[in-house]
Amino acid sequence: MDGQTSLPVAIIGAGPVGLAAAAHLLERGLEPLILEAGPTAGAAIEQWRHIRLFSPWRYNLDAATVRLLEASGWETPRLTALPYGGELVDDYLAPLAALPALSCRLQTGARVVSVTRQGIDKTHSRNRENTPFTVRVQDTDGAVREITAAGVIDASGTWSTRNPLGTSGLPAKGESAADGRISSPLPDVLGRDRDSFAGCRVLVVGAGHSAANTLINLADLTKAEPGTTILWAIRGASAAKVYGGGDLDGLPARGQLGSRLRRLVEAGTIELHTGFGISSFKSLDSHVTIEAVDGRTLDADIIVPCTGFRPDLDILRELRLELDPAVEAPRELGPNLGLPETGVCSTDAGSSCDVPAAATASAGSEADGCCTVPEPVLIGFQTGLAHGRSGNN
Ligand SMILES: Cc1cc2nc3c(=O)[nH]c(=O)nc-3n(C[C@H](O)[C@H](O)[C@H](O)COP(=O)(O)OP(=O)(O)OC[C@H]3O[C@@H](n4cnc5c(N)ncnc54)[C@H](O)[C@@H]3O)c2cc1C
Repeated sequence: MDGQTSLPVAIIGAGPVGLAAAAHLLERGLEPLILEAGPTAGAAIEQWRHIRLFSPWRYNLDAATVRLLEASGWETPRLTALPYGGELVDDYLAPLAALPALSCRLQTGARVVSVTRQGIDKTHSRNRENTPFTVRVQDTDGAVREITAAGVIDASGTWSTRNPLGTSGLPAKGESAADGRISSPLPDVLGRDRDSFAGCRVLVVGAGHSAANTLINLADLTKAEPGTTILWAIRGASAAKVYGGGDLDGLPARGQLGSRLRRLVEAGTIELHTGFGISSFKSLDSHVTIEAVDGRTLDADIIVPCTGFRPDLDILRELRLELDPAVEAPRELGPNLGLPETGVCSTDAGSSCDVPAAATASAGSEADGCCTVPEPVLIGFQTGLAHGRSGNN
Protein backbone atom coordinates (compact mmCIF):
# COMPACT_ATOMS: atom_id res chain seq x y z
CA MET A 1 0.00 0.00 0.00
CA ASP A 2 3.02 2.28 -0.34
CA GLY A 3 2.06 5.64 -1.76
CA GLN A 4 -1.66 5.00 -1.15
CA THR A 5 -1.96 6.47 2.33
CA SER A 6 -3.96 9.47 1.10
CA LEU A 7 -6.62 7.20 -0.38
CA PRO A 8 -9.68 6.23 1.70
CA VAL A 9 -10.58 2.74 2.79
CA ALA A 10 -13.96 1.98 1.21
CA ILE A 11 -16.46 0.25 3.50
CA ILE A 12 -19.39 -1.47 1.80
CA GLY A 13 -22.46 -1.09 4.00
CA ALA A 14 -23.44 1.04 7.00
CA GLY A 15 -24.78 -1.70 9.25
CA PRO A 16 -23.31 -2.32 12.72
CA VAL A 17 -20.20 -3.91 11.22
CA GLY A 18 -19.54 -1.20 8.62
CA LEU A 19 -19.93 1.63 11.15
CA ALA A 20 -17.72 -0.18 13.68
CA ALA A 21 -15.06 -0.70 11.00
CA ALA A 22 -15.15 3.02 10.27
CA ALA A 23 -14.71 3.90 13.96
CA HIS A 24 -11.71 1.56 14.26
CA LEU A 25 -10.10 3.00 11.11
CA LEU A 26 -10.47 6.53 12.49
CA GLU A 27 -8.78 5.49 15.75
CA ARG A 28 -5.85 4.27 13.65
CA GLY A 29 -5.60 7.51 11.68
CA LEU A 30 -7.01 5.98 8.49
CA GLU A 31 -9.70 7.54 6.33
CA PRO A 32 -12.94 5.53 5.92
CA LEU A 33 -15.51 6.11 3.20
CA ILE A 34 -18.77 4.28 3.94
CA LEU A 35 -20.95 3.41 0.94
CA GLU A 36 -24.50 2.43 1.90
CA ALA A 37 -27.03 1.20 -0.65
CA GLY A 38 -30.07 2.06 1.47
CA PRO A 39 -31.44 5.48 2.38
CA THR A 40 -30.01 5.39 5.93
CA ALA A 41 -27.49 3.55 8.09
CA GLY A 42 -28.90 0.24 9.32
CA ALA A 43 -31.08 -0.13 6.22
CA ALA A 44 -31.11 -3.94 6.42
CA ILE A 45 -32.06 -4.04 10.11
CA GLU A 46 -34.75 -1.48 9.34
CA GLN A 47 -36.48 -4.28 7.37
CA TRP A 48 -36.79 -6.38 10.53
CA ARG A 49 -37.20 -3.60 13.08
CA HIS A 50 -40.26 -5.42 14.52
CA ILE A 51 -38.11 -8.39 15.62
CA ARG A 52 -36.41 -8.49 19.01
CA LEU A 53 -32.74 -9.46 19.09
CA PHE A 54 -31.81 -12.39 21.29
CA SER A 55 -28.45 -10.91 22.22
CA PRO A 56 -28.60 -8.11 24.81
CA TRP A 57 -27.18 -4.63 24.20
CA ARG A 58 -23.80 -5.45 25.68
CA TYR A 59 -23.08 -7.84 22.79
CA ASN A 60 -24.39 -5.47 20.13
CA LEU A 61 -22.19 -2.44 20.89
CA ASP A 62 -18.68 -2.06 19.49
CA ALA A 63 -16.04 -0.51 21.78
CA ALA A 64 -14.70 2.04 19.27
CA THR A 65 -18.21 3.22 18.32
CA VAL A 66 -19.09 3.56 22.01
CA ARG A 67 -15.98 5.72 22.55
CA LEU A 68 -17.12 7.98 19.68
CA LEU A 69 -20.71 8.14 20.94
CA GLU A 70 -19.84 8.77 24.58
CA ALA A 71 -17.76 11.79 23.59
CA SER A 72 -21.00 13.25 22.20
CA GLY A 73 -22.98 12.72 25.42
CA TRP A 74 -24.83 9.59 24.24
CA GLU A 75 -26.28 7.48 27.03
CA THR A 76 -25.47 3.79 26.99
CA PRO A 77 -28.62 1.65 26.89
CA ARG A 78 -29.21 -0.81 29.73
CA LEU A 79 -26.67 -3.47 28.77
CA THR A 80 -28.80 -6.43 29.81
CA ALA A 81 -31.89 -5.28 27.87
CA LEU A 82 -32.84 -6.94 24.59
CA PRO A 83 -33.45 -4.35 21.89
CA TYR A 84 -35.82 -4.67 18.96
CA GLY A 85 -34.19 -4.23 15.55
CA GLY A 86 -35.84 -0.80 15.46
CA GLU A 87 -34.22 0.19 18.76
CA LEU A 88 -30.82 -0.94 17.51
CA VAL A 89 -31.28 1.47 14.60
CA ASP A 90 -32.92 4.37 16.49
CA ASP A 91 -30.82 4.27 19.68
CA TYR A 92 -27.44 3.22 18.30
CA LEU A 93 -26.88 3.17 14.53
CA ALA A 94 -28.74 6.40 13.68
CA PRO A 95 -27.02 8.56 16.37
CA LEU A 96 -23.70 6.96 15.48
CA ALA A 97 -24.09 7.69 11.76
CA ALA A 98 -25.14 11.27 12.60
CA LEU A 99 -21.88 12.04 14.43
CA PRO A 100 -19.87 14.56 12.38
CA ALA A 101 -16.88 12.18 12.32
CA LEU A 102 -18.97 9.60 10.45
CA SER A 103 -21.69 11.57 8.68
CA CYS A 104 -19.16 13.38 6.50
CA ARG A 105 -17.71 10.01 5.52
CA LEU A 106 -21.03 8.24 4.82
CA GLN A 107 -22.72 8.21 1.42
CA THR A 108 -26.25 6.75 1.38
CA GLY A 109 -28.13 5.62 -1.72
CA ALA A 110 -24.73 4.42 -2.96
CA ARG A 111 -24.79 0.74 -3.98
CA VAL A 112 -21.43 -0.90 -4.65
CA VAL A 113 -21.85 -2.98 -7.80
CA SER A 114 -18.27 -4.22 -8.27
CA VAL A 115 -14.76 -4.01 -6.88
CA THR A 116 -11.52 -4.58 -8.77
CA ARG A 117 -7.85 -3.58 -8.79
CA GLN A 118 -7.33 -0.36 -10.71
CA GLY A 119 -6.50 -1.04 -14.36
CA ILE A 120 -5.86 -4.77 -13.96
CA ASP A 121 -8.12 -7.77 -14.17
CA LYS A 122 -8.21 -10.86 -11.99
CA THR A 123 -5.65 -12.81 -14.03
CA HIS A 124 -3.00 -10.08 -13.78
CA SER A 125 -0.45 -10.74 -10.99
CA ARG A 126 2.37 -8.22 -11.48
CA ASN A 127 2.36 -5.41 -8.90
CA ARG A 128 -1.13 -6.50 -7.81
CA GLU A 129 -0.52 -5.98 -4.09
CA ASN A 130 0.50 -2.34 -4.60
CA THR A 131 -2.33 -1.44 -6.95
CA PRO A 132 -5.25 0.47 -5.40
CA PHE A 133 -8.85 -0.67 -5.71
CA THR A 134 -11.52 0.68 -7.99
CA VAL A 135 -14.96 0.60 -6.39
CA ARG A 136 -17.84 1.03 -8.84
CA VAL A 137 -20.89 2.63 -7.26
CA GLN A 138 -24.42 3.05 -8.57
CA ASP A 139 -26.38 5.89 -7.00
CA THR A 140 -30.13 5.84 -6.45
CA ASP A 141 -30.67 7.97 -9.58
CA GLY A 142 -28.93 5.25 -11.65
CA ALA A 143 -25.70 7.19 -12.21
CA VAL A 144 -22.54 5.08 -12.05
CA ARG A 145 -19.25 6.40 -10.70
CA GLU A 146 -15.91 5.00 -9.57
CA ILE A 147 -13.92 5.57 -6.40
CA THR A 148 -10.25 4.79 -5.90
CA ALA A 149 -9.50 3.22 -2.52
CA ALA A 150 -6.43 1.95 -0.66
CA GLY A 151 -8.45 -0.94 0.77
CA VAL A 152 -11.97 -2.32 0.82
CA ILE A 153 -13.94 -3.75 3.75
CA ASP A 154 -17.02 -5.68 2.69
CA ALA A 155 -19.60 -5.19 5.46
CA SER A 156 -22.58 -5.66 3.17
CA GLY A 157 -24.10 -8.41 5.33
CA THR A 158 -26.29 -11.13 3.91
CA TRP A 159 -29.83 -9.75 4.16
CA SER A 160 -30.29 -9.11 0.44
CA THR A 161 -29.51 -12.70 -0.64
CA ARG A 162 -31.77 -15.31 0.89
CA ASN A 163 -31.12 -19.00 0.37
CA PRO A 164 -33.40 -20.81 -2.09
CA LEU A 165 -36.41 -22.82 -0.88
CA GLY A 166 -35.51 -26.00 -2.74
CA THR A 167 -33.33 -28.78 -1.36
CA SER A 168 -29.64 -29.15 -2.25
CA GLY A 169 -29.08 -25.38 -2.21
CA LEU A 170 -30.89 -24.90 -5.52
CA PRO A 171 -34.21 -23.16 -6.20
CA ALA A 172 -37.04 -25.69 -6.41
CA LYS A 173 -38.64 -26.23 -9.82
CA GLY A 174 -41.15 -23.42 -10.35
CA GLU A 175 -39.72 -21.33 -7.48
CA SER A 176 -39.12 -18.20 -9.54
CA ALA A 177 -42.56 -18.47 -11.18
CA ALA A 178 -44.08 -18.60 -7.67
CA ASP A 179 -42.23 -15.43 -6.68
CA GLY A 180 -45.45 -13.42 -6.35
CA ARG A 181 -46.53 -15.74 -3.52
CA ILE A 182 -43.20 -15.68 -1.67
CA SER A 183 -42.87 -12.90 0.92
CA SER A 184 -39.76 -11.20 2.27
CA PRO A 185 -37.82 -13.34 4.80
CA LEU A 186 -39.16 -11.54 7.90
CA PRO A 187 -42.49 -9.93 7.10
CA ASP A 188 -44.11 -7.74 9.76
CA VAL A 189 -47.27 -9.87 9.92
CA LEU A 190 -48.76 -7.91 12.84
CA GLY A 191 -48.01 -4.48 11.39
CA ARG A 192 -46.79 -3.27 8.00
CA ASP A 193 -47.56 -6.54 6.13
CA ARG A 194 -50.67 -7.63 8.07
CA ASP A 195 -53.08 -7.41 5.11
CA SER A 196 -51.04 -9.89 3.09
CA PHE A 197 -51.38 -12.54 5.83
CA ALA A 198 -54.71 -12.01 7.62
CA GLY A 199 -57.13 -14.84 6.82
CA CYS A 200 -54.58 -16.61 4.60
CA ARG A 201 -53.10 -20.07 4.56
CA VAL A 202 -49.45 -19.30 5.32
CA LEU A 203 -46.53 -21.71 4.90
CA VAL A 204 -43.36 -20.87 6.84
CA VAL A 205 -40.28 -22.74 5.57
CA GLY A 206 -37.12 -23.17 7.62
CA ALA A 207 -35.78 -24.20 10.99
CA GLY A 208 -34.07 -21.14 12.41
CA HIS A 209 -34.91 -18.23 14.65
CA SER A 210 -36.40 -16.22 11.78
CA ALA A 211 -38.95 -19.00 11.32
CA ALA A 212 -39.61 -19.11 15.07
CA ASN A 213 -40.21 -15.35 15.25
CA THR A 214 -42.54 -15.33 12.25
CA LEU A 215 -44.51 -18.38 13.45
CA ILE A 216 -45.06 -16.83 16.89
CA ASN A 217 -46.20 -13.54 15.35
CA LEU A 218 -48.54 -15.43 13.00
CA ALA A 219 -49.99 -17.26 16.01
CA ASP A 220 -50.77 -13.84 17.54
CA LEU A 221 -52.40 -12.81 14.25
CA THR A 222 -54.74 -15.83 14.31
CA LYS A 223 -56.26 -14.52 17.58
CA ALA A 224 -57.57 -11.42 15.78
CA GLU A 225 -57.96 -13.10 12.38
CA PRO A 226 -59.18 -16.66 13.09
CA GLY A 227 -59.32 -17.56 9.37
CA THR A 228 -55.51 -17.54 9.28
CA THR A 229 -53.91 -21.01 9.01
CA ILE A 230 -50.25 -21.61 9.86
CA LEU A 231 -48.24 -24.40 8.25
CA TRP A 232 -44.57 -24.96 9.04
CA ALA A 233 -42.30 -27.10 6.85
CA ILE A 234 -38.80 -28.18 7.84
CA ARG A 235 -36.42 -30.57 6.13
CA GLY A 236 -35.23 -32.22 9.35
CA ALA A 237 -36.91 -35.11 11.12
CA SER A 238 -37.59 -33.06 14.24
CA ALA A 239 -37.94 -29.43 15.34
CA ALA A 240 -36.02 -30.09 18.58
CA LYS A 241 -33.11 -27.84 17.59
CA VAL A 242 -35.41 -24.87 16.96
CA TYR A 243 -37.11 -25.44 20.30
CA GLY A 244 -33.62 -25.20 21.83
CA GLY A 245 -32.56 -25.73 25.37
CA GLY A 246 -35.32 -23.75 27.10
CA ASP A 247 -34.12 -22.62 30.54
CA LEU A 248 -30.59 -23.94 29.82
CA ASP A 249 -30.03 -21.61 26.90
CA GLY A 250 -27.18 -19.12 27.52
CA LEU A 251 -29.38 -16.47 25.87
CA PRO A 252 -32.68 -16.66 27.82
CA ALA A 253 -34.66 -14.84 25.10
CA ARG A 254 -33.69 -17.49 22.59
CA GLY A 255 -34.66 -20.26 25.00
CA GLN A 256 -38.07 -18.65 25.62
CA LEU A 257 -38.68 -18.25 21.89
CA GLY A 258 -38.15 -21.98 21.34
CA SER A 259 -40.30 -23.00 24.30
CA ARG A 260 -43.18 -20.79 23.13
CA LEU A 261 -42.97 -22.25 19.64
CA ARG A 262 -43.08 -25.79 20.98
CA ARG A 263 -46.26 -25.02 22.94
CA LEU A 264 -47.94 -23.57 19.83
CA VAL A 265 -47.12 -26.68 17.81
CA GLU A 266 -48.30 -28.99 20.61
CA ALA A 267 -51.56 -27.00 20.88
CA GLY A 268 -52.18 -27.43 17.15
CA THR A 269 -52.05 -23.68 16.39
CA ILE A 270 -49.14 -24.43 14.07
CA GLU A 271 -49.27 -27.48 11.79
CA LEU A 272 -45.70 -28.85 11.60
CA HIS A 273 -44.53 -30.92 8.60
CA THR A 274 -41.14 -32.56 9.23
CA GLY A 275 -38.90 -34.17 6.62
CA PHE A 276 -40.44 -31.81 4.03
CA GLY A 277 -37.68 -31.01 1.51
CA ILE A 278 -39.28 -28.92 -1.22
CA SER A 279 -38.89 -30.22 -4.76
CA SER A 280 -41.33 -28.07 -6.75
CA PHE A 281 -43.92 -25.29 -6.78
CA LYS A 282 -47.02 -25.28 -8.91
CA SER A 283 -48.53 -21.81 -9.19
CA LEU A 284 -52.30 -21.77 -9.66
CA ASP A 285 -54.57 -18.73 -9.86
CA SER A 286 -55.96 -19.22 -6.35
CA HIS A 287 -52.91 -20.59 -4.50
CA VAL A 288 -49.58 -22.38 -4.84
CA THR A 289 -49.07 -26.12 -4.37
CA ILE A 290 -45.77 -27.10 -2.79
CA GLU A 291 -44.51 -30.62 -3.44
CA ALA A 292 -41.96 -32.39 -1.24
CA VAL A 293 -39.27 -34.72 -2.50
CA ASP A 294 -41.27 -37.69 -1.14
CA GLY A 295 -44.42 -36.64 -3.03
CA ARG A 296 -46.40 -35.04 -0.17
CA THR A 297 -48.08 -31.76 -1.09
CA LEU A 298 -49.20 -28.63 0.76
CA ASP A 299 -51.38 -25.79 -0.51
CA ALA A 300 -50.70 -22.21 0.59
CA ASP A 301 -51.71 -18.66 -0.27
CA ILE A 302 -48.34 -17.25 0.74
CA ILE A 303 -44.92 -18.68 1.66
CA VAL A 304 -42.44 -17.12 4.10
CA PRO A 305 -38.87 -18.17 3.21
CA CYS A 306 -36.89 -18.53 6.45
CA THR A 307 -34.09 -20.51 4.84
CA GLY A 308 -31.24 -18.24 5.89
CA PHE A 309 -28.98 -15.95 3.94
CA ARG A 310 -25.64 -15.96 2.18
CA PRO A 311 -23.27 -13.21 1.02
CA ASP A 312 -23.63 -11.62 -2.40
CA LEU A 313 -20.25 -12.49 -3.87
CA ASP A 314 -20.98 -11.12 -7.33
CA ILE A 315 -19.65 -7.67 -6.43
CA LEU A 316 -16.29 -9.22 -5.41
CA ARG A 317 -15.95 -11.49 -8.42
CA GLU A 318 -12.98 -9.62 -9.91
CA LEU A 319 -10.95 -9.96 -6.70
CA ARG A 320 -8.84 -12.90 -5.60
CA LEU A 321 -10.61 -14.12 -2.48
CA GLU A 322 -9.76 -16.88 -0.05
CA LEU A 323 -13.10 -18.03 1.22
CA ASP A 324 -14.19 -20.88 3.42
CA PRO A 325 -15.77 -23.33 0.98
CA ALA A 326 -18.78 -24.05 3.22
CA VAL A 327 -19.93 -20.66 4.51
CA GLU A 328 -18.28 -18.31 1.96
CA ALA A 329 -16.73 -16.21 4.75
CA PRO A 330 -13.01 -15.35 4.97
CA ARG A 331 -11.18 -18.63 5.50
CA GLU A 332 -10.06 -17.87 9.07
CA LEU A 333 -13.64 -17.15 10.18
CA GLY A 334 -15.23 -20.05 8.35
CA PRO A 335 -14.78 -22.79 10.97
CA ASN A 336 -16.43 -20.63 13.65
CA LEU A 337 -19.34 -19.60 11.44
CA GLY A 338 -19.96 -23.28 10.71
CA LEU A 339 -21.56 -23.75 14.13
CA PRO A 340 -24.80 -21.86 13.81
CA GLU A 341 -26.49 -23.27 16.89
CA THR A 342 -23.98 -21.90 19.36
CA GLY A 343 -23.21 -18.56 17.69
CA VAL A 344 -25.29 -15.42 18.08
CA CYS A 345 -25.66 -15.09 14.35
CA SER A 346 -27.45 -18.39 13.84
CA THR A 347 -30.26 -16.74 11.88
CA ASP A 348 -27.84 -15.80 9.16
CA ALA A 349 -26.51 -19.31 8.90
CA GLY A 350 -30.13 -20.19 8.44
CA SER A 351 -30.93 -23.56 7.08
CA SER A 352 -27.57 -25.21 7.50
CA CYS A 353 -28.87 -27.21 10.44
CA ASP A 354 -32.14 -28.08 8.76
CA VAL A 355 -30.65 -31.12 7.11
CA PRO A 356 -32.94 -33.62 5.41
CA ALA A 357 -34.20 -36.37 7.69
CA ALA A 358 -32.48 -39.12 5.70
CA ALA A 359 -29.11 -37.37 5.83
CA THR A 360 -29.35 -36.96 9.60
CA ALA A 361 -30.20 -40.59 10.10
CA SER A 362 -27.30 -41.84 8.02
CA ALA A 363 -24.80 -39.39 9.51
CA GLY A 364 -25.19 -40.60 13.07
CA SER A 365 -27.16 -40.12 16.23
CA GLU A 366 -29.04 -37.06 17.49
CA ALA A 367 -26.13 -36.18 19.76
CA ASP A 368 -23.85 -35.87 16.76
CA GLY A 369 -25.37 -32.50 15.94
CA CYS A 370 -25.76 -31.35 12.39
CA CYS A 371 -22.65 -29.44 11.45
CA THR A 372 -19.98 -31.09 9.40
CA VAL A 373 -16.97 -29.96 11.40
CA PRO A 374 -14.60 -32.58 12.72
CA GLU A 375 -14.17 -31.16 16.24
CA PRO A 376 -16.47 -29.11 18.43
CA VAL A 377 -15.41 -25.48 18.65
CA LEU A 378 -16.88 -23.54 21.53
CA ILE A 379 -17.92 -20.06 20.49
CA GLY A 380 -20.90 -17.86 21.19
CA PHE A 381 -23.55 -18.74 23.75
CA GLN A 382 -24.58 -22.11 25.08
CA THR A 383 -27.98 -23.18 23.81
CA GLY A 384 -28.43 -25.92 26.38
CA LEU A 385 -28.15 -28.51 23.60
CA ALA A 386 -25.14 -30.68 22.88
CA HIS A 387 -23.35 -29.69 19.68
CA GLY A 388 -20.39 -30.87 17.71
CA ARG A 389 -19.50 -34.08 16.01
CA SER A 390 -17.99 -35.77 19.04
CA GLY A 391 -21.34 -35.64 20.80
CA ASN A 392 -19.82 -35.34 24.25
CA ASN A 393 -19.69 -31.60 24.89
C1 LIG B 1 -34.24 -11.36 12.54
C2 LIG B 1 -32.79 -11.27 12.83
C3 LIG B 1 -32.40 -11.25 14.15
C4 LIG B 1 -31.06 -11.15 14.47
N1 LIG B 1 -30.70 -11.13 15.78
C5 LIG B 1 -29.40 -11.00 16.10
C6 LIG B 1 -28.98 -10.93 17.46
O1 LIG B 1 -29.78 -11.03 18.37
N2 LIG B 1 -27.68 -10.77 17.72
C7 LIG B 1 -26.75 -10.66 16.70
O2 LIG B 1 -25.57 -10.50 17.01
N3 LIG B 1 -27.10 -10.72 15.41
C8 LIG B 1 -28.39 -10.90 15.09
N4 LIG B 1 -28.76 -10.97 13.78
C9 LIG B 1 -27.75 -10.95 12.77
C10 LIG B 1 -27.60 -9.49 12.39
O3 LIG B 1 -28.22 -9.30 11.17
C11 LIG B 1 -26.17 -9.14 12.35
O4 LIG B 1 -25.53 -9.39 13.58
C12 LIG B 1 -25.93 -7.70 11.98
O5 LIG B 1 -27.00 -7.05 11.35
C13 LIG B 1 -24.79 -7.79 11.04
O6 LIG B 1 -24.40 -6.52 10.75
P1 LIG B 1 -23.73 -6.19 9.34
O7 LIG B 1 -23.31 -4.76 9.43
O8 LIG B 1 -22.71 -7.22 9.01
O9 LIG B 1 -24.88 -6.42 8.26
P2 LIG B 1 -26.25 -5.65 8.02
O10 LIG B 1 -26.87 -5.21 9.28
O11 LIG B 1 -27.02 -6.53 7.10
O12 LIG B 1 -25.79 -4.34 7.24
C14 LIG B 1 -25.29 -4.41 5.92
C15 LIG B 1 -25.52 -3.06 5.27
O13 LIG B 1 -24.92 -3.09 3.97
C16 LIG B 1 -25.78 -2.50 3.02
N5 LIG B 1 -25.46 -3.08 1.71
C17 LIG B 1 -25.70 -4.33 1.27
N6 LIG B 1 -25.21 -4.50 0.02
C18 LIG B 1 -24.63 -3.32 -0.32
C19 LIG B 1 -23.93 -2.88 -1.49
N7 LIG B 1 -23.72 -3.67 -2.54
N8 LIG B 1 -23.48 -1.60 -1.51
C20 LIG B 1 -23.66 -0.77 -0.44
N9 LIG B 1 -24.32 -1.15 0.68
C21 LIG B 1 -24.79 -2.41 0.74
C22 LIG B 1 -27.17 -2.85 3.53
O14 LIG B 1 -28.15 -1.94 3.02
C23 LIG B 1 -26.99 -2.74 5.04
O15 LIG B 1 -27.27 -1.46 5.53
C24 LIG B 1 -30.09 -11.08 13.43
C25 LIG B 1 -30.50 -11.10 12.09
C26 LIG B 1 -31.83 -11.21 11.79
C27 LIG B 1 -32.25 -11.25 10.34
